[in-house]
Parts: sequence; C-alpha cells; structure tokens
Amino acid sequence: MDSKTIGILGGGQLGRMVVEAAHRLNVKTVILDAPNSPAKQIHAGEHVDGSFKDPADIAKLASKCDVITVEIEHVNADTLADLQKTGVEVHPSPETIRIIQDKYRQKEHLISHGIPVAESYEVTESTEAALVVAAEKVGYPCVVKAKTLAYDGRGNFVLKGPENVKEALEFLSDRPLYVEKWCPFVKELAVMVVRSTDGTTVAYPTVETVQKNNICHTVYAPARDVSPSTLYEAQLVAENAIKSFTGAGIFGVEMFLLENGTIVLNEIAPRPHNSGHYTTDACSTSQFEAHVRAILGLPLFPEMAQMRTADTHAIMLNILGGDKPDSELEYCKRSLSVPGSTIHLYGKTTRPERKMGHINIVASSMDECERRLAKISGEDIEEAP
Ligand code: ATP
Ligand code: MG
Ligand code: MG
Repeated sequence: MDSKTIGILGGGQLGRMVVEAAHRLNVKTVILDAPNSPAKQIHAGEHVDGSFKDPADIAKLASKCDVITVEIEHVNADTLADLQKTGVEVHPSPETIRIIQDKYRQKEHLISHGIPVAESYEVTESTEAALVVAAEKVGYPCVVKAKTLAYDGRGNFVLKGPENVKEALEFLSDRPLYVEKWCPFVKELAVMVVRSTDGTTVAYPTVETVQKNNICHTVYAPARDVSPSTLYEAQLVAENAIKSFTGAGIFGVEMFLLENGTIVLNEIAPRPHNSGHYTTDACSTSQFEAHVRAILGLPLFPEMAQMRTADTHAIMLNILGGDKPDSELEYCKRSLSVPGSTIHLYGKTTRPERKMGHINIVASSMDECERRLAKISGEDIEEAP
C-alpha cells in the first residue's frame, strides 16, 4: 500500500500490533528495542537491537526507514527533533511527544487550549514544605503525580492529609512532582482519536474503562449507562484536545465523568492505547491500522472508526500475569470455547501484574458480552442438573 518503511521506537505489545496491521497492508516495519521483544517475535525483518532512549540507536533506526513513530512516549524527544531537522518524518511530532511525556506540561498545554482538566500545581522542590504548599492549594485528598515516566499509576500517590506527606515523598523519591485536585468521578471514559498529516481528526466511540490497582482491567464499548449527549461530548473534548497538537497518528484520551455530567480530561497518550484494543475486533478499522494510515498519509474518514454494525458491543479484558507462571492462560483456555471472543497474547514472560495479553469479546448486546465475560473469568454459575 505504501513504499515507505516505518521505524518504531519500542517493540512491546503496542508495536507488535502496529506491525500486524502494517503487515496486512504490506507496509514494511523496522523495530528498535531489545532482541526478541514482542514486536520482533512476529516479524523476521532486519531490526535494530538497542534502546529507544539512545541517540545512536535512534539514528541507526532512522537510517533504515522513512517515517519514525513511537509505541511509548518515554523516548528521547530531543534526538527525534534533531532527526526531523535532517528531513526524517517523525509522527507524532517530537514537540507533541515532548509536551505529553511531562504530565504537568501536558496539563499546562491543555489549559492554554481551553480543555477541561483537574486543577494542578507544581511541587517546586522535593521537600515536605513544598508539597504541603501545593497540596493546600487544591485541598485534601489530592493526587501527587510524577511529571515524567509514569505508567499504571506507579508515579501516583493519593495524599489523604498532611500526615501522609512524608510517605508520599518516600514513595515517589526524587522524581519531579505536581499535585492534582481529586476528581470524584462516577466513571472513567476514553476516546481514541486519529489525526492525519493535515490535522483533521476522527474520533472512535466513547468507551468506559475500569481500572483495578491503577491498571486498566476492562473496557466497555460503548460506555454503559451514559447518555448519547455525554458520549458525544467526550468525543468532542478528545478531538479538540488532539487538534491542539502537531503531527499525525493515533492518540488515546483518558477522561473522568463527574456526577453532574461534567467531563474532565485526565491524560493523553500519543500512541495506540489499551483503551483502544477493542477496535481490532469491534470497529471497521483498528486503532493500529488507523495509526499506520495516519502516519503514511493514507485515507482516514469517520466510518472507519465506527463499531462494525449498529448493534456491535464489545468488552476488552486485560490478561495480567498472576502469582504463578502462565496462570493467565486459564482465561485464554476458557475463552477458546466462548463465541465472539478473540485472544491477543503478546509473547512476554510472566510477571505478576504484567500485561500479558487481552481478550476482546464481541456480541450484539452488552448483556451478552457480560455473560461471555463471566464465562471467561470463570464466574458463571453452573446450573444445577
Ligand atoms: P497510565 O497507565 O494510564 O498511563 P498513569 O500512571 O499515567 O496511568 P493516571 O492516568 O494519572 O496514571 O492515573 C491512574 C488512575 O488513577 C486513573 O485512571 C484514575 O483511576 C486515578 N486517578 C488519577 N488522577 C486522579 C484524580 N485527579 N482524581 C481521582 N482519581 C485519579
Ligand atoms: Mg499515563
Ligand atoms: Mg492513565
């Protein structure tokens, strides 16, 4: 479909699923990551072994491709900016990655573009006094967040009162911090938005995400018990946010829905996102193919982002590593006998809480998806004989 080769910084599961989508379009990909990373396992091409933070390794990747993209935002944005100046295409833009990878800077950017976010204050130095000053501006409880290198809630600490300030600083050690006002949400929503090279955007449906221990557990598409006007408003907030950045690609937009119906944007990921995994089996075009299309300048249009049929409903279940090796496979074994369910395993070694794979469940109603989920989770009650 395109003669350009895509270079991907990061070879985890997101890179692996971008490679899958590119393969179907016969688009070549080159991965920069450790040997045998998930994306490299399914593609025997000529890859680069190294780190997506190392300028020399990124330069090596650039010499083998025409367009560079990322499956993770914690990359070296300066190196990408330098490469872009030499004529290599980078999507999304290094500037977008730079803003988003610092969650406080991301908030400042969104505020300056009129996007609703939780009130936030910088913690000016790593001391108890400075943290108390910032926390008192938003009140307790509040969330202390690491500005950078955050994922799965590992950079967050819920501060109940001044008595926990010491514990928060110990937990977050010397990382640069900011404090965020507590958002008493009734639901967490998310929308995938794809942005073309000319800046037009297409929004996927509004989904509901359920986190357990700060890690995404299930995604319901479309979101349950949310009015059509709120579903639409979440798409608008997400699209407006993504219009404010530069460069092409798919973005995941996480939001909070408050009791009074207000939507507050939590954070943005400048790449494929866990809340968009359902798209592979439930939408006309997956988030991964949408990303490939976007960065190559191939057509994007609203219908590609819709659920496959008007009555398509989906649940995505994340499969995390358990205490025993391969215990996650129990879910997959049950899933093999459940209609409308599709297993996606990433080829990673088991570690407790590690994202090992996901299962997409598709049916013509959410009730039916939920019955199928119960079977896969081993929660359905056997009827008495
Ligand atoms: P990710 O893996 O999505 O990148 P992260 O480490 O960047 O996660 P956040 O998205 O900031 O973390 O927060 C993780 C979860 O913590 C949210 O999904 C939400 O459930 C909760 N949370 C975050 N911020 C707030 C807030 N201001 N008020 C209430 N709950 C919050
Ligand atoms: Mg995050
Ligand atoms: Mg998050």
